[in-house]
Amino acid sequence: MTTLVEKKKQGMYETVMQQFNATANIINLNPNIRKILGITNNEIIVHFPVKMDNGEVEVFTGYRVQHNNALGPYKGGLRYHPSVDVEDAKALAMWMSWKASLAGLPYGGAKGGIQLDPRNYSLSELERITRRFTYALGENIGPEHDIPAPDVNTNSQTMAWIADTYMSTKSTSERSQNQHVVTGKPVGSGGLEGRDRATGYGVYLTIKFLYESRGKSLNKQTFIVQGFGNVGYWTSKFLVEDGAILLAVQDAHATLYNEEGISVDDLFVHSSPRKGSIEGFTGAKEIDPEEFFGLDCDIFVPAALGNQITAENAFKIKAKIVAEGANGPTDNEGERILLEKGITIIPDILCNSGGVIGSYFEWLQNRNGELWQLEEVMAKLEKKLFEAFKKVEREVRERDTDWRTAAYIIAISRIETAYVQRGIFP
Ligand code: GLU
Repeated sequence: MTTLVEKKKQGMYETVMQQFNATANIINLNPNIRKILGITNNEIIVHFPVKMDNGEVEVFTGYRVQHNNALGPYKGGLRYHPSVDVEDAKALAMWMSWKASLAGLPYGGAKGGIQLDPRNYSLSELERITRRFTYALGENIGPEHDIPAPDVNTNSQTMAWIADTYMSTKSTSERSQNQHVVTGKPVGSGGLEGRDRATGYGVYLTIKFLYESRGKSLNKQTFIVQGFGNVGYWTSKFLVEDGAILLAVQDAHATLYNEEGISVDDLFVHSSPRKGSIEGFTGAKEIDPEEFFGLDCDIFVPAALGNQITAENAFKIKAKIVAEGANGPTDNEGERILLEKGITIIPDILCNSGGVIGSYFEWLQNRNGELWQLEEVMAKLEKKLFEAFKKVEREVRERDTDWRTAAYIIAISRIETAYVQRGIFP
């Protein structure tokens, strides 16, 4: 029995700041722009009361941190998790800025959420909490200002409640123009076909592109996944469909292993009614969580929380590729060890950017009153991701550097250019 907790030894904010400063040094970032990008623009903290099912009132704390909007409106997810705090939200907001920039999207970065464990609340309590949070955020979010999306423990239902609440605060004639205040909505309520699988599809594609660039295929390649939420599930599904073998899955409740391969569909059927938990699945044996990182495999996909790969376990990893489905899963010491071992890390800001790219399509679809078909969405997603992948690959080659550094150089340079062109008010 283990729990996946955000390990606070090196906070995620420290990780992202070290990454940012290292890149700023390499590209000789304009010192004024360095000051601007090294800090988050706005940190919004709201406390709001909600009536629980038993009639008592509970007061919740919600966050929205807006890092930078030089490239466009703030964009990023909302997570519901006990670990949510302002420091983590700052780090995650920065990662969103880099991610949107690298993908070539017209967005800045933001992140937020509520500090709670959603498993402790009924569905109707979660609905009231979400609606009250939206109301408390007020004009701090908006379709052309700051656009939330799903993240850890939030989903299309959460987004539908936010959209409905936000739109209800507008005059009747303006309501429908505000649907794109959030992305990741259900397809029947302005959501995008395929947005549910966009992040996992993107993780799969970046791994596939990497294999192809090495003249290899995914057939019979083995992989292990940490986290079996939206990202872990869809990534596994696409990898297995392409011939790869899922050897092990770890979540907060159990670590499962099957050398013959775990059935992604069976595990999904098992975990869905159990609030996503994989515990008790009979299609694999339960192993000691400590064994997970050291399992023999080709690919490791961390797809849960941040700060999972650290000095304590990085040396055990046998995979040749670490594909970061999660945001910030590798701390700097962990990264150093992996690179020394010759492991390729596909960095989060590239690897999991399929989600925000899908969000961008949804936002465009709503703004333009269009409805896109699934095939169209997946093809557009693949094209955008391939462009980003190729840019990073070229930078890796030309600078003879690692993938994260290359991705950061591209992302930060693009924001620098925007500032240089526009200047700083007044
Ligand atoms: N939460 C996702 C991420 O971390 C998606 C963000 C979005 O679509 O705005 O990238």
